[in-house]
Amino acid sequence: MAKYIVLLGPPSVGKGTQAEILAGKTSLVHVSSGDLFRENIKNNTDLGKQAKSFMDKGELVPDDVTIAMVKDRISRPDCKVGAILDGFPRTPVQAEALQKMLAGVKGEVNVVPFITAAPEVLVERASGRWTCKAQGHIYHKKFNPPKVADKCDIDGSELYQREDDKAETVARRINIYFEQTAPLVDYYRNKEKLVEIDGTQSIDQVTDALLSAIKR
Ligand code: AMP
Repeated sequence: MAKYIVLLGPPSVGKGTQAEILAGKTSLVHVSSGDLFRENIKNNTDLGKQAKSFMDKGELVPDDVTIAMVKDRISRPDCKVGAILDGFPRTPVQAEALQKMLAGVKGEVNVVPFITAAPEVLVERASGRWTCKAQGHIYHKKFNPPKVADKCDIDGSELYQREDDKAETVARRINIYFEQTAPLVDYYRNKEKLVEIDGTQSIDQVTDALLSAIKR
């Protein structure tokens, strides 16, 4: 049975950073709905054009558009053994859709690590976050700086601040998380999939907690 891990938690809690590390330590690919949208925006696709206005405001892209995009990604061969889902699902409708799409590829959600941190921590993390232009690798000016200023350690591309990481938009994204995504905590707790992880620990400590949650 293919193994799918859903990383749940508020924006900027470290899901992207951890998903990248976990993908390097397991056979599972990192599937980030935010990265897929950003890739489409960069390539100026119809999907990118549809998503951009919602993303720039810090709002969620409509469920139907998001679900179709993730379904297409999950159906590719590299997801056959499973994937680490980062940023999807973000609404109860998406969670139901995920269950259906995984049944179609003989997979299931094995575990849902729920990474937590207080809103002030999230604002600090988002406002110091720098993202690589080429592939979306993530840095933080204070907590996880690149070796050479403004350059990605992995591919050497330029780092930039995401439009939606600017202070006003971050606050909006956090509110939207509480309104629309937080209900998934109970949804997965009721299915006995949830493992709570303190996201204020160091990057290495969070990785260790995630690895033991995944091995469960
Ligand atoms: P992220 O990179 O996960 O912070 O996502 C960046 C933005 O992409 C979000 O603020 C939304 O506008 C959009 N987005 C990403 N994933 C989803 C999703 N599952 N549902 C709706 N919108 C999403």
